[in-house]
Formats: sequence, structure tokens, C-alpha cells
Amino acid sequence: MSALPPGSTIGILGGGQLGRMLALAAARLGLKAHVYTDVPGGACEVAAAATVAPFEDTARIRAFAENVDVVTYEFENVPLQAAAAAELAAPVRPGSKALAVAQDRLEEKTFISGLGIPVAPFAAVDGESSFDAAMCTIGPAGILKTRRLGYDGKGQVRIKSAGELVPAFESLGRAPSVLEGFVPFAFEVSVLVVRALSGETRFYDIPLNTHRNGILDTSTVPSPLPHEHAARAREIAGAIATALDYVGVLGVEMFYVPDGTEPLVVNEIAPRVHNSGHWTMDACLVSQFENHIRAVAGWPLGETDRHSDVTMTNLIGDDVDQWPALAAEAGVALHLYGKPEARPGRKMGHVNRLRPRR
Ligand code: AMP
Repeated sequence: MSALPPGSTIGILGGGQLGRMLALAAARLGLKAHVYTDVPGGACEVAAAATVAPFEDTARIRAFAENVDVVTYEFENVPLQAAAAAELAAPVRPGSKALAVAQDRLEEKTFISGLGIPVAPFAAVDGESSFDAAMCTIGPAGILKTRRLGYDGKGQVRIKSAGELVPAFESLGRAPSVLEGFVPFAFEVSVLVVRALSGETRFYDIPLNTHRNGILDTSTVPSPLPHEHAARAREIAGAIATALDYVGVLGVEMFYVPDGTEPLVVNEIAPRVHNSGHWTMDACLVSQFENHIRAVAGWPLGETDRHSDVTMTNLIGDDVDQWPALAAEAGVALHLYGKPEARPGRKMGHVNRLRPRR
């Protein structure tokens, strides 16, 4: 279980902004990044090497894995066959168990509730025969979500009465789905935990997350989550990481329900670095990206302590046009992802606004 020395190559499946920031963090430690992506640009621009090919091309994946020392991924929809092909030639961290669980909301909720951790009440919806049972379990108010490939509020429909279930299912293209009970949360938080090859876990402070049009808008630390609940939130995230025999950074999104019998309800997990951890790039000695690279390379974990208070704000679509003003603003760290076109809903960059720690 020796650490990969500087000069080793980290293979990254996925070439978006998360892969880009992982490659930059690897470079800072003298490690090289080889990005495998089906879209040129993005992370390839900052990596030592890139392969542009489909994720379904298992021969290319295998050849890629033969040229790196460890493989990691920056998105949870890496096909399981791709991870399996890579595993034939190099260790894949986090492993494919985390991928399998996170790719399917039904598997995910079953797995997490099986650990005794609260999730929203849920029931599978895969056709007419399941409607009545789902409504009985959940009641009339809920959210219908596709089991696979949903993100940023896509692939889900809010339901306010029993009559809305059939049209909602139709609008999701009759894709296998999960009906979730609506959780009356006060606010949303996330836990970023990093787990080393040795099993050691470290946690970043827990941000308060707000959303705009279903997309993360801001993450702020410190959050108003009371200390005793923050301790429980860390315990939950640590238990999930351990149960997955996880290596790297794991994001666990939670609802805070102060009056509930269960004050913390897990919404979903992200088996990768997470948008709600981008503030760590400037407010911590070691960012989530560097700690992910350290973990998958078998290095000792870095400090997760926060030296400043901070609010991270995503730059979505044409928000990025404000870059000249943001670049001139005091106390702001600006991060731009180099994407050529600012389409609506597209994450173009983020800013971290730092304040002295209270
Ligand atoms: P998701 O794609 O599951 O992360 O959901 C996107 C957003 O929808 C969450 O961040 C919440 O704001 C909201 N949401 C999702 N599931 C529920 C739920 N069961 N109850 C209340 N709000 C929810």
C-alpha cells in the first residue's frame, strides 16, 4: 500500500470542470494527469495527456488504464463496464461499488437506509402496477425522480396530488423511477468526507447550500447547522464511506429538518469531488481536489481545517460575463473553467468570497 511517488500518473475518467480541477491539484503535487473523455477541451487543456474516445470503448479504456498508475473518475455515470475494463489494468479508486450505488437512486436509497441512516420515504415506480402501492407508501405529496441519469433537478417532477402521478411518469418518458416523500426541510447541507487508502477519514466543515433553478447556487461556511447535528452528519457520511470501502472524496447531500424525528435526512451521495466543496480551494490549506488526489495516490491526507469563512457562488450561463468586475473585486478568488460557450444552466466557473474566520 505504498504511495505513488511524484511523477506517477493519475488517470481521470471524465473531462469536465471537476476533472480539470483534479488535474490541476495533481500537477501541484508533481503528479501527472491523463484524462479520458468523450469530449475534447475541458480538463484536457490542463492535463499531461488525454484520450478522447467513447466510454463504451472498453479496449481504449483498458489501454488508457495500462498507461496510468491509478484510475479515478469525476462523474458518477461512468459506465460500469468502463470501470471494470480499467480495473483489469490499474486500481480504480473509489471502486465500482460506489459507482453502482450512486448511479441508481433506488439502489442508493436501499443501500443507505440499510445502514440505518434516514432517507426520504421512497417507493419504486416502474409502470401502472406500481402506482397504487407507491401512493400508499408515500402519500399524495412527493417527488418522482428517474432512477438513473438525473442531475441538477433534471429528471424529476414535483407531485401534489394522486392524479399527478400518471402525467409525471409520462413526462419522464416512463423511465424506471422512484417516488420520494417530500421532506419539509429548513435548509440543505452537504458533508465532504475524504477517506484514505488506510481507512482514515477526514471531514471538511459543513456548508449550507442554496439552489437556483434546481442548480447549486451558493455554499457557505460556517452553516447554521447546530454542533450536535453537525457531529451526527459527519458520523453518517463516515459510515457511508466506510460501508463502500471508499477511497477519495465523497459528497453526501442532506436535508436538515429541525423539528423532525430524524433531523438529518440523506438526499443523495456523489462518489466524487463535489460542487459544494469548491470553497475548499481557497479557504483551506488542502482543497477537496488535492485531498482526493492524495487519497487515490495512497498519500497521507492533508489538513481539512478552514482558515476563513467563505461563500462559494457558481457562475451559471451568462453570469460569467461579470468576470471583469469579479476579477477586480477584493477578497474574491475567481475560477473559470475555460468553456467556450455560456449556455443557460451551464456551470462556467465559480467565485469564493472570503471573510476572516469568526
Ligand atoms: P436532487 O436531484 O435529488 O439532488 O434534487 C434536487 C433538489 O430538489 C434538492 O436539492 C432539493 O432542493 C429538492 N428535493 C429533492 N428531493 C426532495 C425531497 N424528497 N423533499 C424535498 N425537496 C427535495
